[in-house]
Parts: sequence; C-alpha cells; structure tokens
Amino acid sequence: MPQAVFRFYGSLNDFLIPARRQIEFSHSVKDRASIKDAIEALGVPHPEIDLLLVNGDSVSFAYRLHNRDSISAYPHSESPEIDAISYVRPKPLANHRFVLDVHLGKLASYLRLLGFDVLYQNDYDDDVLAQISSQQQRILLTQDIGLLKRSIVIYGYRVRSSNPKAQVREVLDRFSLHGTVAPLKRCPRCNGLLEPVEKQTIDHRLPHFTRLSYHEFFECQDCSQLYWKGAHHGRIQQLIEQFVDR
Ligand SMILES: [Zn+2]
Repeated sequence: MPQAVFRFYGSLNDFLIPARRQIEFSHSVKDRASIKDAIEALGVPHPEIDLLLVNGDSVSFAYRLHNRDSISAYPHSESPEIDAISYVRPKPLANHRFVLDVHLGKLASYLRLLGFDVLYQNDYDDDVLAQISSQQQRILLTQDIGLLKRSIVIYGYRVRSSNPKAQVREVLDRFSLHGTVAPLKRCPRCNGLLEPVEKQTIDHRLPHFTRLSYHEFFECQDCSQLYWKGAHHGRIQQLIEQFVDR
C-alpha cells in the first residue's frame, strides 16, 4: 500500500489522535485516493482546511495521492504567512450568515443579539442543515464532525467549546467578525429584522413601568416582539463587552 507523510498545523490538530498531533507522521493511503478522503479518514473535516501543500505545491481537494507524497495541511489562521495560492479555500463570503446545529441554541441567540443572520431550529436534521448551508452559502456551525465531512458543505466550522459565551468568541475570532457586531438589528427569538417603532403606536402593548421609563422602541418584523433601548440595550452592551475585542 502506498505511504504518504502528513503534517497538520494549528487548530487542525484538534481532530487528530494525540500521537499524531504537531508532528510529521507516515500513513498508508489507498492507491490514487483523493487527498480529501485521506485527510477526512484521519479525522479532519475538509471545511476546516484553508491550504493544502503536496511536496511544497498548493493542490485542490481533488488531488490524487502518490506513494511518498508529503502533505502539509493548514487551517484558516495559520496559512496567511505562507506565500501560496490556495486551491481549497472557498470564495470569500460577501457577508457572514450562519446555520446552526440543533444543540447550539444558546449560541444562536447570542449571535442574533450581536446582529448576525442565524438560522436555527431545534428540529433541523443533518440533511436539512447540510442543504441549507450549501444552497444559501451559510456557514454551518456544529460540533458534529461527520456533518462537516459531507461533501456539499463548503463553509463550516466545528465549535470547540461547550460553553456558549466561549463559543461566541470562537466564532468571532475564526471569522474575524469583531468589527461587524450590530446590536438591536436582529430578533434573538426568531432572527427577524428589528425596525424602530414610534412609541405611541405600541403604547398599549407596554408594561406600565416600561411605558414610563423608556422612549426608544424596536419591533421584530417577523414575530412582532418589542425591544427597547434601556433594559435590552444594557444587556446587549454587557454581552458585547464580554465578547468583542475593540
Ligand atoms: Zn422575532
């Protein structure tokens, strides 16, 4: 059986068994196997890879392996210093929109609070998640490595932390989103867009204390939930201070 030498860099090591992390290792590969299949068989889902070099040359996922090939795989944050055009990096997205796996509900509402367009329903199955990600060019966030290995998934990231606030930081870091946070833009309940609304038109829907204390209101265009600057805004500002590097 042909042998190839692999070296994974940075956060790609998270997917390897400990004995293969941060070192070069030799591994048998099927004759003429695609590099994508060989790498995924070692545990690394393709959407996490930003650059692939074989014997020093940049290759695409379709590259077929040969005996004694030497493969270097880089994640997003590790590759910029390397002077090679990537043939695996997907087209940059004009804006970052997400679809989240069913167990990431808390992360979904935090990301919406920060203004991001996030599809999330607790009954989406794996087929639906992969299809939405593929058809709408949404970044699939999940902790399910098998789901990220599906070939139709182009934009995806495996959320590492189990803590929702740490997950927010991970996503903001990975996709460089610290500068694009926009509070009071999206409804954390349903992802609808918020629009300012005149107080007198919604006066009758407000609790007494809120009517007396607050003057700037926003209404969700989809579910009609009301938000107001003051209580909600304060909470959002606190979150932003926790999550965002200014
Ligand atoms: Zn809503």
